[in-house]
Amino acid sequence: MDWIEVTLSVDGEAAEAVAELLQRYGHQGVAVEQEGIPPDQWDDGEAQPAQRLSVRAYFPADDRAEQARLELEQGLSYLNMMYPMPQPVYHTVRDEDWAEAWKVHYHPVRIGRRLLIRPLWAQADLQPGDVEIALDPGMAFGTGTHPTTQLCLEALEDRMQPGLRVLDLGTGSGILAIAAAKLGAASVLALDIDPVAVTISQENIEQNGVAEKVTTQTGSLESVVTSARRFDLIVVNILAKIIIAMCDQHLGEVVRPGGVALFSGIIDEQAGDVEAALRKTGLEPTARRQQGDWVLVEARRPH
Ligand code: SAH
Repeated sequence: MDWIEVTLSVDGEAAEAVAELLQRYGHQGVAVEQEGIPPDQWDDGEAQPAQRLSVRAYFPADDRAEQARLELEQGLSYLNMMYPMPQPVYHTVRDEDWAEAWKVHYHPVRIGRRLLIRPLWAQADLQPGDVEIALDPGMAFGTGTHPTTQLCLEALEDRMQPGLRVLDLGTGSGILAIAAAKLGAASVLALDIDPVAVTISQENIEQNGVAEKVTTQTGSLESVVTSARRFDLIVVNILAKIIIAMCDQHLGEVVRPGGVALFSGIIDEQAGDVEAALRKTGLEPTARRQQGDWVLVEARRPH
């Protein structure tokens, strides 16, 4: 069987929505990568200029391919009403080339000072002190190549201290939960509303040998708010509008007084609205990090 490769070249603002749409049709997930700079050279910690991103997926060239293509284009035309969308570019890839075609789009990526994200099938040069995360992203978002994830990894590396109790809300592939555990967290609770993400994150967590520290569950904020659990550090890489909605649902209360909260998935124009919502839920914004159009907001719960 052959495969159809579909690629869209988009800006940072459109990437998330397009990736979500392709996710429905793509086999083994969706790759999001910056155009121009190879992923293994993004580790210099400097803010990237506004970039175009390639969003790419593969679907089987079988008798349902035409239907999938029609649905995909209909989905794009809906998105186009809110935001201009490019035309998708299609290529047919022969089966024997597919696995390789797919894998060449994922490379080991260095992030922050010590983190190295390695796709399961790739070799990587480990240096002393490296913290390696081996991932099979499968169908879940979170391969380490997306700027929103990279911002979280850098902030986690800076804010993590041994023994912290961490909450990863919207864990996807589990990448941030694994990073937190490997950086010294005492315990990590990883939640996602998508059961597929929970299954994949669990596999990735076991693969990385941190299953004793990390608990994965299907669920979201409400399951934490209604429990007695409070966290020293929370990381939420979802989307601005979801973070803002969570602020009305006691998001701030799950952070212990004095604890730290990291919010990502925010386009720079939305950062002010997110910070205003954070203040209302009792969190004090303390810093912003930026990569291209994407912003991470750091906050603290006052004592
Ligand atoms: N943490 C990963 C994945 C981020 S993608 C990373 O940083 O790369 C966002 C994830 O949040 C998706 O897996 C999605 O299923 C999940 N999600 C979306 N809305 C959510 C909600 N309200 N509560 C919990 N998880 C949610």
